[in-house]
Amino acid sequence: MQSVRFNNRNFYIKRDDLLSQEFSGNKARKFAYFLNNDFPEIEKIVGYGSVQANSLYSLAALAKLKGWQLTFYCHHIPAWLKQQPTGNYKAALALGADILEVDATQLDSNLDDYMTKLALSFDSSVQFVPEGGRCLYAEYGVKQLADEIIEFVKSEKLNAPIIMLPAGTGTTALYLQKNLPYQVLSCACVGDDKYLAQQFAMLTENQKFWPQILSQTKKYHFGKLYPEFFSLWQNLLAQTQVEFDLLYDPLGWLNLLSYIEKNQIDSEIIYIHQGGLLGNESMKPRYERKYGL
Ligand SMILES: *Cc1c(COP(=O)(O)O)cnc(C)c1O
Repeated sequence: MQSVRFNNRNFYIKRDDLLSQEFSGNKARKFAYFLNNDFPEIEKIVGYGSVQANSLYSLAALAKLKGWQLTFYCHHIPAWLKQQPTGNYKAALALGADILEVDATQLDSNLDDYMTKLALSFDSSVQFVPEGGRCLYAEYGVKQLADEIIEFVKSEKLNAPIIMLPAGTGTTALYLQKNLPYQVLSCACVGDDKYLAQQFAMLTENQKFWPQILSQTKKYHFGKLYPEFFSLWQNLLAQTQVEFDLLYDPLGWLNLLSYIEKNQIDSEIIYIHQGGLLGNESMKPRYERKYGL
């Protein structure tokens, strides 16, 4: 836990990005269950999602450590990326991951539904992991994160702090809220607020465990470049010397700062750094090409 000053305010940053090189951030938490237990039956993991997903890299590292094969399905791998792999895709290939494109003609629905159906045919030697690690197993490691936060809050004698973390599938935010006696805030980086609520509902119908979703007025598309994202990211780096991820964190901080201002929040804030820095390897050149920054 690191205390920083940003825009004349104190924040605590939970540095989960420093957990380990390969399992940085929330993927380490979400996959801790598989890391810390033995599964003699498993020979292979099957996952799916975006070809540059942080979870692709983490699953590849998990598979390598465990002596399992990883097969990862994605929609499409751009030809330029195949020729010149970068980021999570490159790192996963180097770890021996088998990365497959699903033939678009086979997809009568979305990849989620397609994979859920496909998984019905897997035997017990195959561990199926839904997109982004959105599964019940994730609670095991996220609860450890919650316990570390509670211990810190007690040892520092903080009044109930507010916890903030941006969401993809919302798995980390939801299991944090379920295991913490403090308010957890999140925001939808992939899809809209309704999509995030649907993701929460897939893990639990009990809305008592759902984090509060901070809504933004402007629609941001996941993976697209926005000058206000990059300048906030640069400001954070300059003032705190902490490098945040470029996909989720700029929106997380944007929403957090406007929430603080709008509601005149003076509680302590703990921001969860969920890792993702390997992804910056491909995002930074994109920003530089687009804005010449
Ligand atoms: C995977 C990831 C997220 C999203 O996590 P969810 O549990 O799916 O909400 C956020 N930030 C980073 C850096 C990630 O790698």
